[in-house]
Amino acid sequence: MKGPPSLGYVDSHSHLSDLRLESEVEAMIQSAKLVGIEMFLQGGVGPEDWERQRALSLRHPEILLCFGLHPYWVIDHSMEQCEEGLDLLARQIAQASALGELGLDFRPHLVKDSRERQLEVFEAQLELAEIAAKPIVLHLVRAFPEALQIFETRGVPRAGGMVHSFNGNIREAEAYLKLNLHLSIGGPVVRPENKKLHEAVKLIPWSSLMLETDSPDQPPPSRQGGLNEPQTLLEVAETIAQLKGSSTHEVLDITSRNLRQMLSLS
Ligand SMILES: [Zn+2]
Repeated sequence: MKGPPSLGYVDSHSHLSDLRLESEVEAMIQSAKLVGIEMFLQGGVGPEDWERQRALSLRHPEILLCFGLHPYWVIDHSMEQCEEGLDLLARQIAQASALGELGLDFRPHLVKDSRERQLEVFEAQLELAEIAAKPIVLHLVRAFPEALQIFETRGVPRAGGMVHSFNGNIREAEAYLKLNLHLSIGGPVVRPENKKLHEAVKLIPWSSLMLETDSPDQPPPSRQGGLNEPQTLLEVAETIAQLKGSSTHEVLDITSRNLRQMLSLS
């Protein structure tokens, strides 16, 4: 599986502008660079977060902007506020590398009265991604049939995209792959008991695979209870290398190339 020489590894999804990381983010970026991680695509939450991403990327141009209305943000805001958010997004999306996180999160303890609002804001963002020709970063939790139905009706925006923190089974992986979406794998794959994801990872073609940490969330077992950071990408890569009979370097190299390709950086 030879390709061009490595350009440095990519963490395909993190939240380095998260307020919980404020005092630690500089040290985390340095530690990540020491192990070869040189690029960080963000996951957008809402307008305040986009501002913080912008500020951080002025100091670190290797932090790639991603603007979108996260399902959590949609859950916490009225339809009127969501419409204002969508207007802002339409005006600012040209500055970002990708549009997201957009999606659906129907976990019963989170969803409250937001089901219809989530669906509406999700579809509006898909429309925007199509118009702006931006790849999408999807957050889909407990919403597989609903998401699939939307994609089967309207298709995936032309610049493609990724399902962030894919943690599903083979059947779900196959459905997303059929839509030409990339599957981004994070900390949950490191858990030895996560057999359904392990089986799915074995089947995901190399060209559709990406790696992420979702820092500061979803730490692998080695960081349980603490904040996650980008250098744990290596643990994710090690697990995937074992599952696919490959080397850690090769996993990091190929998945980083896939992300660059999705963003038209190579
Ligand atoms: Zn995220």
